[in-house]
Amino acid sequence: MIRDGRGRTRTYAAGALALLAFATACGESGGGGSAAPATRSTGAAAPKPTEAAPTSAAPTTAAPAGGADPAAWAKWNLTPLAPAPAPPADKPIKLERTGPVPVFSEVKTNDKVVFITIDDGAEKDPKFVEMLTDLKVPISMFLTRDIVRNDYAYFKPLQALGNHIQNHTVDHPVMSKIPAEKQKSEICDAQSALTQQYGTAPLLFRPPFGDGASTSTLNTSVQQCGPRAMVLWRESMQIHDMQYQAGDKKLKPGDIILAHFRGPSELKGATMTQMFGDLLARIQEQGFSVARLEDYIQAPAS
Ligand SMILES: [Zn+2]
Repeated sequence: MIRDGRGRTRTYAAGALALLAFATACGESGGGGSAAPATRSTGAAAPKPTEAAPTSAAPTTAAPAGGADPAAWAKWNLTPLAPAPAPPADKPIKLERTGPVPVFSEVKTNDKVVFITIDDGAEKDPKFVEMLTDLKVPISMFLTRDIVRNDYAYFKPLQALGNHIQNHTVDHPVMSKIPAEKQKSEICDAQSALTQQYGTAPLLFRPPFGDGASTSTLNTSVQQCGPRAMVLWRESMQIHDMQYQAGDKKLKPGDIILAHFRGPSELKGATMTQMFGDLLARIQEQGFSVARLEDYIQAPAS
């Protein structure tokens, strides 16, 4: 019998949940749910050999995530992901100190990697900190000030694992519906609060719902506050499966995946760690590794 990190048997039935056009806090730009999700049999799967990964040989130099500890993964009812290749020395995305900020939802790379971003910050489940400490899967956190301000400290151990804190406004408005001045305060006030709390200024900004990213008004507002790029996404993690923007419903190298800090009340009873475990399973079954987004981005020279 396999137990999850809460010491409870994992009983959620994969079949029952699947397709949910779940209204996410960050919204989706695509329509429709994903069809025919590959369900994950959580209880019966025999552990696989850990070196597995018949997928492409990653360079053996310094796997950024460190060597996977199969026992740590087994604790979460998972087998280790293939280690990500070393990040490229020549970064696919190069940011400038000034001028319009680029907007991207994927990273150009041939590496069989995807990037996980987790937004808002509502659910602050200590088990997720434990899980990430065990698994050392890289994530990027786009935090909304008024959603995290009641417990800034929650995110510090996640940051201490090497994960970056990025800007996701003060209180999650629809940016194209507010005037430029208000846009600016939404971004700048979050920027200063996050910088003060976490000791480093966010390099990236994500507009709530991905809204307004292509407008010059929002681009200017971002420029005035410090972030040097706007980051959207290609896939959106729901509860047990992802919604894909591409019609073939497959991950592509360099895809950015959107997830959220959410708990049982928003996940139909599933926990943050169950959601994240399922996300990793969806990535693994398509033969991908998880890399750190910021490792593929060159920050402006200071
Ligand atoms: Zn959001």
